[in-house]
Order: sequence, then structure tokens, then C-alpha cells
Amino acid sequence: MAFIPTVDEDKCEGCEECVDVCPTEVFELEDEKAVPVNAEECLGCESCIEVCEPGAITVEET
Ligand code: SF4
Ligand code: SF4
Repeated sequence: MAFIPTVDEDKCEGCEECVDVCPTEVFELEDEKAVPVNAEECLGCESCIEVCEPGAITVEET
């Protein structure tokens, strides 16, 4: 089982909450937008979804 986290750039406000909360450091901030640079490390815990106020993050299970 794998998880694919994605960020809707139009919704992301660059708050960095997802960068801080992710246990496997999936996200980095680039040009004030969160980018899932280590998407393959995602555990599917959904902590990033919980902290993202604008609802910019989706985690798809494959
Ligand atoms: S928590 Fe949401 S709004 Fe904040 S940086 Fe991450 S994706 Fe963007
Ligand atoms: S679901 Fe969990 S492991 Fe995956 S990107 Fe979000 S916080 Fe990180």
C-alpha cells in the first residue's frame, strides 16, 4: 500500500504547518507553497490534512 500526498497550490497559504507536523518530512516550502518533495515517504497518517486550514492537502491511497 502506498500513499500519495498532493498540495493544491491555489489553496496553499504557505503557513508551514504541514512541514512541521509531518513525521517523515514529506513537505518543503518552495516559493511560499508546500511541495511534497518526499512523497514516497508518506505514511498516510493524515496529520497534514488536519493542520491545513485551507484544505489544500489530499492524501490518496493506492
Ligand atoms: S498546511 Fe496547507 S496551507 Fe499550510 S503550507 Fe501546508 S499545504 Fe500550505
Ligand atoms: S499523511 Fe502523514 S506522513 Fe503523509 S504527508 Fe501527511 S503528515 Fe506526512
